[in-house]
Formats: sequence, C-alpha cells, structure tokens
Amino acid sequence: MKKKVKYIFVTGGVSSSLGKGIISASLAKLLQGRGFDVTIQKLDPYINIDPGTLNPYEHGECYVTEDGAETDLDLGHYERFSSTPTSQANNITTGRIYQNVIDKERKGEYLGTTVQVIPHITDEIKHSIKLLGETGKYDFVITEIGGTVGDIESFPFVETVRQMKWEEGHNCAVIHLTLVPFLKAAGELKTKPTQHSVKTMLEQGVQPDIIVCRSEYHLNKGIRGKIAQFCNISEDSVIESIDASTIYDVPLLMRDEKLDIAVLKKTKTKIPKTLDLTNWERFVKRLKNPVTTVNIGLVGKYVELQDAYKSIKEALIHGGVENECKINDIDIQSEKITRKNVKELLGNLDGIIVAPGFGGRGIEGKIEAVKFARENNIPFLGICLGMQCAAIEFTRNVLNLKDAHTVEIDENTKHPVIDLMDEQKGIENLGGTMRLGAYNCKLVKGSKSYDVYKEDIVAERHRHRFEFNNDYRERFESAGMKIAGVNPEKDLVEIIELDNHPWFVGVQFHPEYKSTVKRPHPLFVGFVDAVVKNRK
Ligand code: GLN
Repeated sequence: MKKKVKYIFVTGGVSSSLGKGIISASLAKLLQGRGFDVTIQKLDPYINIDPGTLNPYEHGECYVTEDGAETDLDLGHYERFSSTPTSQANNITTGRIYQNVIDKERKGEYLGTTVQVIPHITDEIKHSIKLLGETGKYDFVITEIGGTVGDIESFPFVETVRQMKWEEGHNCAVIHLTLVPFLKAAGELKTKPTQHSVKTMLEQGVQPDIIVCRSEYHLNKGIRGKIAQFCNISEDSVIESIDASTIYDVPLLMRDEKLDIAVLKKTKTKIPKTLDLTNWERFVKRLKNPVTTVNIGLVGKYVELQDAYKSIKEALIHGGVENECKINDIDIQSEKITRKNVKELLGNLDGIIVAPGFGGRGIEGKIEAVKFARENNIPFLGICLGMQCAAIEFTRNVLNLKDAHTVEIDENTKHPVIDLMDEQKGIENLGGTMRLGAYNCKLVKGSKSYDVYKEDIVAERHRHRFEFNNDYRERFESAGMKIAGVNPEKDLVEIIELDNHPWFVGVQFHPEYKSTVKRPHPLFVGFVDAVVKNRK
C-alpha cells in the first residue's frame, strides 16, 4: 500500500555550518526508531548541476550514491545515520532545477507562456520534493534547504516551502535551525539573532513550527520562553542543540529534547509508544569506552579542510568502534612528504591511509608514503588515487620500472601502469562523466579482502577515470602483489594486495561511502583490526 507522506523542511538561519545535515539525519534516526520509513533530501542553492565539479576546498567531500550521483556530503550523514541508500533524487541544486525548466521550455512544454521563477521554477522544485513522497515508500520526506534564509539564492526554495505549507496543511512542518550565541561580556545567551532570522522567514511568508537552537550552553526556561514568545511558537517547540563531543550523540540529545515528538505533534501523527535506539546507544557506548587507541595517518592534499575526507574519517570511527579502538586520525599534507622526511612524518603511525584525489599536486608525497608503509610493514589502505599510487610505487620500486606513472599526470610515461579507461577516451564534458556509482567486484578466495567481506561478489561505489593497466597484471602477481578483486563485466582490477605484509590493500573504489553505524564497512573493520594487532 502506498504511504501517505508528510513533508518536513529544515532551514537554517543566522549562520552557516550549524549542522542542519546532522539535525536532519538525527530526526530521521528518531522517526525510524519509532517505526517510520524516512528519506532525507538536500536542496542546494548553488548553480553547479552537482558538486562533482567543485573542489573539496569549496564544498568539502563529494559523496557518491549507489546510482552514481555526485552529491553533497550531507547525504553521507543521512546514509551513515539511517542506513537507507540515497539516490540522484536526494540531492537537487538550483542548476539542475533551471536546467530542467530550460530543457522543457526548449521542448515547447510551456508554449505560449512567459517562463518565470514563480510558478515554473518553484513548481520544478516542488516536483523534485514530491518525487520522493510519491514513491509511496516513505512516511516522512525530510528536505534540508542548503544555505541560510535571506540569501538571494535561497528565495525560490523558501517560497516553495511557503506554497507547500499552504497546500499540505498539517502534513507539512518547518524546522528552523538558528544560533543562540553566548556573549561573554554580558555573560548571557542572546536570542536576538534568532528573532531576526525568524523575521526574515516571516517576510517570505513562512512561520517556522519548530526552532532548533544551536548553542554552546544550555538554554534555561527564560530563554526558551523568550524565543517561543518572540517567534510565535509553543515552548515545547523550542529545541536545544548543544555542542556535542561527537555527532553520534546528536540523535540521543534530540530524543531528550523531544524533537521527534514535536514533529509528530505538528504533523498530527499518532505517536507510537516505543522509540527503539538500542543499537545506536550501544554504538555510542562503545565509541566512548575504547579499550585501546591507535594513530592512523591520512595522507592527502586537502587535509587542511575538515570536511574534505568526511566519509573516510567517519568510516574509520565505525571500524574503530567495531574493534573497541579509538582512532587518532592524523592529517598529513602529502605535498610536504619527501624521501628525506618521510620517517620523521610517518614514523609514529600505526596505520596509513592514502586518500583519493585528482591531479598532480602532492602525488610524489603520496607515493613516498606508500613506499614507507610497504617497506616498514605498516598496515596500509589506499583508496582510489591511493590505490593507483600503490601501483605506481610497486612498478617503480619493486618491478624497477623507474619512470612508471599514471597517464593522468604524465601522458608520455613509458610505463603507464595506470591508464585512461577505454570508455573515458573521447569524453569532452567533464561534469558527471566519470565511472560513477556501484559496480561489482569479484573477490579472490584466500585474499585479505575476501577474509573481511566473506562474500564472492560485492558492489562498491566508484568515482574515477583511470584504471589499473592489465598489461602489468602478471608482473604484479609474480612479484608478490595479488590482484584480489576484479570487475567481472569489464575485467577491471578493483583491488590489489601485497602478499608478504601484515595488511596492504589498495582499492579502486570508495569503501568509505558505504560504511554506516549499522554496518561498519568490512575493509575499515579489517584495516583497524590489522592496525591494532600489528601494533601489539
Ligand atoms: N584521479 C584518479 C582517477 O580519476 C582517482 C580518482 C579518485 O581518487 N577518486 O582515476
């Protein structure tokens, strides 16, 4: 039977980076815990069709879905929290909305009319929201609106929320997330920015139903009362979101603040008696009570930016919890690594990850890091470009083909151990044209990967143009680098593994995208396990 869906919008005010994504994911977790089916969607106001063409300094990591959409990193939080796969329909940008409308205009679908922001753009936004609702699979669609209300770019989205609130009545609720700053000199929390932010919403015709207040200190009754009074909401709709030591605490904090109850009341939904978060609580308990600690280095060129390797860092946490182990993840700028200083920079690490990436900056440092891990028996995980670097290092230093490289960086290399995929030759447009999304990988029995997955065929997500060159396969195998996983359809190498090493695995795909609280990724669990054992 098709479900009658309810729409929850999450908007932000006062400042960016307040954690709308985490609040949305936490709400989804709570509603799931009460037995509802939920999906989360992100609407981004920028004009790029997707974040695939942005570099991580601009927008953090680009997250890839099963169906190969390049999306906002918040979708990673949604999947990690809810364990429900997202898809292309879960991330829509202004660019995509306009592209759809302009395509329709050219096809003649609006013949005779002037195409305008209202109703054509807002209708298209509405269509994207309802597409998920109308699948009949969900009780709730939570739609997070990127940016901050009042931004020029957000106007059509907030206007769409206004229209949907009007059309859907109590099947729709708006959560507004704001900042309640603490003024040291005055010694108190200030509600004025929240009042102004709600005023901005009201100017655009939207009265928030619930206000979530991000704050460094607890909101006392007086503050809650003030926000309720000035912002036309009841006091139990003022929700405190205090800074947490880990994002995994947020669903529990939101449960204590009764965010789910507020949403169910606003949408006139019968409140199920039980809220089951047993597994989540167990995860958080183990996260906070590790038995041991290890130092894992993440070698990449975007390490200055917290969000650039978000999914890898979270997957490491998941793998750590599974091993009752706290991970000190240590960022290492690959550009700084040289043969001379590699020991000084990496010598204290218990495990090394070489990160994905594009282009030549920092690549020689990554290759030095691989060499160091290989020669010193330090557990190693190479992801995408990290795997490609492992192949280059092996070709140069074990097969002794000194000028081996990837064609991405040296087009004329004599030993192109990493080459452009056939299907990529002739591609001119760079947006959305990589090998993207889930592809099968057949694992070789007896390999470390097979040991951790315990499956013959796995599907993992990809985002790359270059591949391992099959001309080198035999030489790799006979020199001790096993081809441990291959895509059966196209015969592409997906996993390489060193034989005589505690744990040296390079993967062409991105295992980090599929790691969730419910199912920590086997490769991260196996890697951390090897790190812990090797250190002992
Ligand atoms: N730049 C490499 C490629 O396109 C690796 C990509 C990645 O690390 N995601 O194949």
